[in-house]
Amino acid sequence: MTNADLCGGQTVLGIIGGGQLGRMTALAAARLGVRTHIFTPETDSPASQVAEKTIVAAYDDTAALKDFASGVDVITLEFENIPAPTMEFLSGLRTVRPNARALELSQDRRHEKDYFRSLGVATPRWLPILNAGELVQAMEFLNGPAILKTARFGYDGKGQARVRPDSDLEAAWNSLGGVPCVLEEFVPFESEISVVVARKANGETAAFNPAMNVHRDGILRTSTFPAPEMDVALIEQAQDITRTIAGAMDLVGLLAVEFFKTADGRLLANEMAPRPHNSAHWTMDACHTDQFEQFVRAVLDLPLGDPSAYRHMRMTNLIGDDINAVPGYLANPQARIHLYGKTECRPGRKMGHVNEPLPRTLAE
Ligand code: AMP
Repeated sequence: MTNADLCGGQTVLGIIGGGQLGRMTALAAARLGVRTHIFTPETDSPASQVAEKTIVAAYDDTAALKDFASGVDVITLEFENIPAPTMEFLSGLRTVRPNARALELSQDRRHEKDYFRSLGVATPRWLPILNAGELVQAMEFLNGPAILKTARFGYDGKGQARVRPDSDLEAAWNSLGGVPCVLEEFVPFESEISVVVARKANGETAAFNPAMNVHRDGILRTSTFPAPEMDVALIEQAQDITRTIAGAMDLVGLLAVEFFKTADGRLLANEMAPRPHNSAHWTMDACHTDQFEQFVRAVLDLPLGDPSAYRHMRMTNLIGDDINAVPGYLANPQARIHLYGKTECRPGRKMGHVNEPLPRTLAE
């Protein structure tokens, strides 16, 4: 993509997936004069409400995928659980960013952790689990509280069970459906942080500063920037690790990596996502270039913007009934409200988020 193409207003970005991350990507693209087409199996998706065009079809509908690819310049995605054959098919038709390897590694916790290990990136101790017998052995090995997680398709705390040496392990195994899992030691972390890095095809990168994340029932509740008690060396270390992980799989787009920070100052990588990330929504109202615009710039091979922050911010997710708090937030002229256009409110469903500027002294 050249800057001249962009000025013509004819550039079309294709996004696989119709959720809120696609919606906010489409809004950022629109500011740059870029049109977006969405491919999703869902009708009236959050992204389709703000896109130029949506193709509603199944991920294995090759005729629909062909039609979608023929109308766009570059294809990206807003969630990683897209079937690999879909991405392979699209890669034969158009430039797809991020690549299939980044997707494959992020889709399976076993591959992700092996990949981290191959790069020397520290993680919580873990073991792959294929049956209840292996779970019993692994618990003996870890010898302490642990978390059993499905290897694939887990999100927002779903597909996880906390276990202790005296737990009914057979029941824990069955509660997750008897699918391949990983067992991780429970890390008594001091805090959770995440870093998002943008990377272009030429290897150029730009890293956002880490935010501190607080989860409730396995779902991200707040992200606060700056993350308290993070010295410069640790911030640089987290950003360097994220750059290394992105570079080694030649990722183009955004990579988010979540870390546990231990009391003795170590960073343990928990998981990664090759797309915009909920924990960087604070950048929308605090950074010179937010994560969504940076994502669009990276996948369209445009110059990256300045990711630095000009103010301190707290992002709060509006989950399920939290949506009822919107009138209160509206009464606060400082609060920046982002709603996702979801018509059905369900417990645990992310309905929107609010960014509230923090006085500098409070955040430090
Ligand atoms: P995940 O889906 O792996 O991001 O897990 C969701 C949340 O569960 C994390 O953000 C943590 O708050 C918590 N969690 C996950 N794995 C661990 C672990 N090994 N030790 C302690 N807490 C964890």
